[in-house]
Amino acid sequence: MKKILLFLLGFMAAVLASAQGDRAFVLATAGEVDAAVADRVRSKIEEMSGATVRLAPPVPLQPGQSLEAIGRAAAQTLGENDQGIIVLAWPDSEQPQGVCLPDVRFGALNMARLSAGVDAAQLERRASQEGLRVLSMLVGMSPCPFPLCVLTGFEKTEDLDRMSGNYCPPCLERFTRLAVAAGIRMVPPPAPDASAEVVPPPAAEAAPESQPAPAAAEPEAVNAVPAAEPAASPVPSE
Ligand SMILES: [Zn+2]
Repeated sequence: MKKILLFLLGFMAAVLASAQGDRAFVLATAGEVDAAVADRVRSKIEEMSGATVRLAPPVPLQPGQSLEAIGRAAAQTLGENDQGIIVLAWPDSEQPQGVCLPDVRFGALNMARLSAGVDAAQLERRASQEGLRVLSMLVGMSPCPFPLCVLTGFEKTEDLDRMSGNYCPPCLERFTRLAVAAGIRMVPPPAPDASAEVVPPPAAEAAPESQPAPAAAEPEAVNAVPAAEPAASPVPSE
């Protein structure tokens, strides 16, 4: 039992220590999206997911190109060490809010739709939330039933503003496992104020050992192959 407890305490650290993969997610713009905005969204997604996200050159936008076509074109620029691409697109025609095709390894977000009625900072938050949703789908995750999770279902664009900006703890753990299994290079968590979660409380030593360990210890799940969900869209159209 003590062994399991130690395993639980050290789980995240062990996952991070072993996360020496050299794959990464990619983020690029298409159309009139500011590069500085894209890099801030990239940075936020990387911080919240713990997975490496690199900024790629803008994807050329063709006149009248659909969001899906933009995403497919972006996916063709992926290298062998790229897991998938998030495209922050500003299409020149009416397009859905987002299109994600995990099998084709892209998620394209419609920044024009996401910008409706909000300022630049809020647009970046919405794009980061949608980016985290795309990332989860690119490793084969499903929506989360927990309302305080960025992977929960929603209906309207404005709903994003009331939603969490990050994965709930079980989703983060699952994402980390799947990303590591896929060979993604993980980045260390930046927040020093998160140290409270890293240091086990002194009382843990005296804790009774009669409690069965929760199901969090599923080391075999590291080998799980991400099941792609074809034609899943990260967001509903209004
Ligand atoms: Zn969740």
